[in-house]
Amino acid sequence: MSFDYITIGAGVIGSSTAYYLKKALPGSRILLIDRNHTAGAGNTAKSAALYRNFFSSRTSRMLAGSSIKYYIGLGDKVKLDQIGYLWLFSKDQWTVSQKTIERIDPLENKFEILGRSGIGEILRINYREKDHFPDIHAGIFCHLCGSLSAMALAQYYATEFKSMGGEVSFNTDIQKFNLTGQKSRYAPWDEVHVDGIVDREGNTYRAKEYIVATGAWTHGLLAPLGIASGILPKKRQLFALKIENPAQLLADPARRPAIILPAGGVYIKPVIDRNIIIAGCADELGQPFLMSDPEPDPLYFHSAIEPVIKHYFPDLRDLTLSLKWAGYYDYHWPDMTPVIESVANITWVGGTSGSGIMKADAVGRIAAARLQGHDETVLADGAIFKVSRLSLRDREVEKEELII
Ligand SMILES: Cc1cc2nc3c(=O)[nH]c(=O)nc-3n(C[C@H](O)[C@H](O)[C@H](O)COP(=O)(O)OP(=O)(O)OC[C@H]3O[C@@H](n4cnc5c(N)ncnc54)[C@H](O)[C@@H]3O)c2cc1C
Repeated sequence: MSFDYITIGAGVIGSSTAYYLKKALPGSRILLIDRNHTAGAGNTAKSAALYRNFFSSRTSRMLAGSSIKYYIGLGDKVKLDQIGYLWLFSKDQWTVSQKTIERIDPLENKFEILGRSGIGEILRINYREKDHFPDIHAGIFCHLCGSLSAMALAQYYATEFKSMGGEVSFNTDIQKFNLTGQKSRYAPWDEVHVDGIVDREGNTYRAKEYIVATGAWTHGLLAPLGIASGILPKKRQLFALKIENPAQLLADPARRPAIILPAGGVYIKPVIDRNIIIAGCADELGQPFLMSDPEPDPLYFHSAIEPVIKHYFPDLRDLTLSLKWAGYYDYHWPDMTPVIESVANITWVGGTSGSGIMKADAVGRIAAARLQGHDETVLADGAIFKVSRLSLRDREVEKEELII
């Protein structure tokens, strides 16, 4: 089992990388491996699958903006639904963020600033502050944002990869990397690299280059080899709530954007045709960088999310928790921007930090370019991206000022 490239991890990132690599090098033997039975069944399947181009960091705007352009071209194939985003700010938050927002071109990035009356035309919302919940002062409506099927996107890349002659091996759980020579007894002049990877059944797979696209599992795989990927898992949970009537939330049934509330990092994805809203929360301190407990916690919902929703949407009286699930972000802390870096014949692609679906097309193109030794690549919107910007050694990414 000898290949030119092996990609471990067939989430949206590994599948996109394998696809762009095979497209560029049709004659190469490339194997895409995952321990699940199909592509996208890891944290990709757990995501809220929202996408947005609204970031203060130019790098994030390029990664997401170009990927969104590509997804719009895929349309129904990935169940794209351009519902928009309505990001709500309290007066204090607006004072802090206004200057940053004014630096982003509204025409190019397709967003508008709304006051309370504009927000009131879209949402039935309570503007007043109370206890922990600040007022609502302004909103940004981002037209180039929406949702898609993350699973369909990962499957799209994996299927296209296979149709070009790419090989896949699902239900294959990689347990070990074999390094050349004698483990732990290397002389400084030894050239160490990966000689093979071994699955749970003891099968060995060999390639010239190995790509680790294992998302939240990256640290666990690479740390034992002596590689500090800087990518760590953090639990994230989503709760689907049955609502009686969308009019309790929306003032105009034709507009049903994803909503970012100004308290506690709570966000809502309305799925109006099923009378459901999906709510999540971006908690930070106190949520460990560990893969500890994979179960969703209803107490967390009742203490951290439900009070926020009930404050801002007082008409949503009877919220029934119909479904809940948990997954892990693969965080690259503190810049929360993807990483593509190599040591010997291992390249890792990850650290998408909660925005891997919306950036997957660009990340796959950039990773494929790096694996071919290119300095630059062309993104889906024609922009040129310098590959080393996402590396660790020559990193060039901006601080994100607009954090949910
Ligand atoms: C609750 C939640 C909500 C989110 N919401 C959004 C959102 O709205 N928008 C957005 O853009 N992003 C969102 N994300 C983030 C997004 O899901 C991730 O950024 C993205 O899925 C990362 O893709 P990946 O391919 O790197 O990881 P994964 O999809 O996890 O893929 C990694 C794959 O590696 C495989 N693997 C790991 N170890 C091994 C091994 N040893 N052997 C074989 N296979 C292995 C796993 O089985 C898995 O399939 C959310 C994430 C969560 C958890």
